[in-house]
Amino acid sequence: MGFLLMENGLTALARLGLADAVHALGTVADEAVVFDRFGRELLRRSFQPHLGMERAALVDLLERTVGPRIINYGQTFERLRYEESAQLRSDREDDRGQARADAALFDDGSTFEADLFIGADGRRSRVRECVCPGHSTGNAVVAELISSLDAPELAAELGTTLLRFRDPDCALGVSMMPTGRGRVVWYITHDREAWDVTDDLAGRRYIAALVADWPHPIPTLLESTDFATSYIWRTADMDPLPYSTRGNVALVGDAAHPLLPFSTQGVNSALVDAVTLADALDDLADGRDSARALSAWSTRRRHVTSAYLEYGRERARVFLDPELRGHDPPFPESVGRRDLQDLAPRACR
Ligand SMILES: Cc1cc2nc3c(=O)[nH]c(=O)nc-3n(C[C@H](O)[C@H](O)[C@H](O)COP(=O)(O)OP(=O)(O)OC[C@H]3O[C@@H](n4cnc5c(N)ncnc54)[C@H](O)[C@@H]3O)c2cc1C
Repeated sequence: MGFLLMENGLTALARLGLADAVHALGTVADEAVVFDRFGRELLRRSFQPHLGMERAALVDLLERTVGPRIINYGQTFERLRYEESAQLRSDREDDRGQARADAALFDDGSTFEADLFIGADGRRSRVRECVCPGHSTGNAVVAELISSLDAPELAAELGTTLLRFRDPDCALGVSMMPTGRGRVVWYITHDREAWDVTDDLAGRRYIAALVADWPHPIPTLLESTDFATSYIWRTADMDPLPYSTRGNVALVGDAAHPLLPFSTQGVNSALVDAVTLADALDDLADGRDSARALSAWSTRRRHVTSAYLEYGRERARVFLDPELRGHDPPFPESVGRRDLQDLAPRACR
């Protein structure tokens, strides 16, 4: 429904010439304030400006930027077709480099031929199954009930602050952030093993009732929220892929590395993947071997996204165990710097 664009995601969008456009659509966040469920302030911290934004606004902007007739909707990708000589025989490095797909096959019987394929098909990626067979995601213990609503007064009250409340004794928290144009996204993070409900109206209301007597503005949010359009997100965890390219096929975003929400890196890393992959493809235009260029890109990205994965896992552990509270791991700054370095316009590297 909405997310925080961090420095790496914003830099990737700037590389696409979209810095002003995203700032016009989102809203700056530069401070986090955390209270306990009784309204006692636990933490106040300023940070480098991020941007809260609605998912629909970003998708719409990207779609308009790409232009008409590039995106086809309504077709489901099923599998890749491989050249006769390069059927997937094993995971041996040689075969990985050699295996060349020549077409993508869709559920309506259509075929799309190309020299290169990029799997950007999210957490339950089918392209991943072609690149790294058998490597799939598992459900993580943390879930979030997420809602988005028009709340201009609350958005104005929040200003540039991300507001959080947490129960000191169990794995339950409420967070909210403005996402631009008077809208606010808010979510109740909880331990799915403690409160395992189905994602329907009754399940969503049950989770919301857990925080009904928490401080302002939570009761107001509960009153204004349409739970029919809310959503319980069961987060996913997946060990890093041994490789995210195979021959002329590459994976980006959640297809390559679903990240836990605690990392705040899902969208941001997907954007960095896209821009750095485009740079790697420029190398192909310079005549370099495609499988090698993709493989080098994948190794570099794996280093960064694996660090974000570990950071998210560590923060999830702290959230789940009240005894660990106050021991949040620091953001992996050196990896973040490397991410930004990789995004520098090529002439400046
Ligand atoms: C509720 C929620 C809140 C989140 N909050 C944040 C946040 O605050 N910050 C953050 O950084 N990340 C957040 N994330 C994670 C973030 O949304 C993902 O990491 C990000 O969207 C990944 O982008 P992607 O393009 O790789 O995949 P997706 O956004 O999942 O896009 C994949 C696309 O592929 C399509 N697709 C899938 N399978 C097929 C197929 N077989 N054929 C054709 N098309 C297919 C899907 O319909 C979809 O359009 C959140 C996720 C959720 C669910």
